[in-house]
This record gives sequence, structure tokens and C-alpha cells, in this order.
Amino acid sequence: MFDSGPAQRLEGLQSSLFFESLAEIYARVFRELRPRTPPPKIAVEFCRFANPDSFIRLDAAGLRVRISDLLESAPAPVMEALAFILLGKLYRKSVPRLYAHRYRLYLNRKDMRRQAQLVRQVRGRKFISGPQGELHNLEEIFERMNTRFFDGLLGRPQLGWSRNASRHQLGHFDPSHNAIVISRIFDRPRTPLLALEYVMFHEMLHLRFPVDHSKARRCVHTRKFKAAEKQFPDFKEAKEMLKRL
Ligand SMILES: [Zn+2]
Repeated sequence: MFDSGPAQRLEGLQSSLFFESLAEIYARVFRELRPRTPPPKIAVEFCRFANPDSFIRLDAAGLRVRISDLLESAPAPVMEALAFILLGKLYRKSVPRLYAHRYRLYLNRKDMRRQAQLVRQVRGRKFISGPQGELHNLEEIFERMNTRFFDGLLGRPQLGWSRNASRHQLGHFDPSHNAIVISRIFDRPRTPLLALEYVMFHEMLHLRFPVDHSKARRCVHTRKFKAAEKQFPDFKEAKEMLKRL
């Protein structure tokens, strides 16, 4: 799994992939609004709401932020603006106009409005897109990597493209649906094929090495997993590419 969503889903990966995770953005904005209070535990996740709404809640467990997945591919400055809006609402502080304006501008973009409308139409229906993208076929990529790295022995799960070109979740393996979903950001001519192959390889390793529940903290990327991942010949180059998506 590759994302910057709920903290327990990512462990060490995000810090090497992104400069600032969503939780880090919220912690920074929190410190700005309440400089004398240490930030609580913060969990941020994307949810399939029917509208581009987002919610924030503070309870004993900490701060929980649920953001519409329509905003999954939003750039960091928009996410920062939303953090000011949500935390401002929670602590009854007025939101600087700069942030309110930036957020509204983004939601009002034509493509965002169209996407919001589309989502309202299809929400509720279960949807995993087929393997065929505009440019790449995920089945072909899967089988190529299968031959190259797994002696062709991995059973093929459902393969699909994410609805949005997410930068926060580049790919994930969903064991309950036995599905690998890859961000549409890789189905673009300017995204190098190597980056897509690497993310597919990473998700295939999740098929190969199941999650380790034996420790107190759920370990998604076990030591074996990480060792296997380094077998990817262009490991470092591919990781660099992901930073520049
Ligand atoms: Zn992973």
C-alpha cells in the first residue's frame, strides 16, 4: 500500500515518498492555531462521500479528519487550506481569507465540478474499473512482472484503475476484494512506465507477503517484504520518480 492516508496504513513509507504527509500538515496547522497546546494524535483518511464534504472530530482518541476522496488528487496547498478551514471550524477561529479563497477556487474548477457531479451519480454502486486504461493494460503489466519476478506463480487478482489520479494513494492491495487498484496518475503519457511497474511490483509483494498481525502494531511492510522489494533492479530510480509525479 502506498498512501498518506490513515497513519496506521503507512508506517515508514510516506516519509520517504512525500515531503509532508496529510497528518503532518494538520499537525503544523494545529500548532499555528494553538501554539501552546501540543497537537493530539491525528488520523486523516479519504472517504467515499457523495459530496465534496469533509469532517473533523476531536475525542479521546485524538483528532480524526475525514476528507472527501474527490480531493485525493488535490495539491498540498489545497490540502493545507482545507486544514485551516476544518481546524478553524473546530476551534472557532476565523479562517484567513487566503485559505478560504484557495479552497473555494479549487472546488470551483470545472473539472472538479464535473467530477463531483459524476460521483453523485454513481455513488453507492460498487466499482472496480477494468484493467484497460487509456494507455496501459494492468493485466499485461501484472503478467509481465509475474514472469519477471515471481516465476509466473502469482494468481492474478482483480485489477483496476482508481477513479481519481491520486497522488496520495498510488496503489493499494485490497485483500477482502482480492484486488489491486492503481492510481490513474500512472495512465498518462508523461508518467514513466518504470514508475507504474514499480508500484505494481510493490502491490504484488502484498499478495506474496501477507500482513503480519503478530506484533502490537500491524506490520504491512515486513522485513521480508522490504528485502524482496529491493530486488527490483531500478528500485532507487523508481522511488525518485514517484517523488516527482
Ligand atoms: Zn505497501
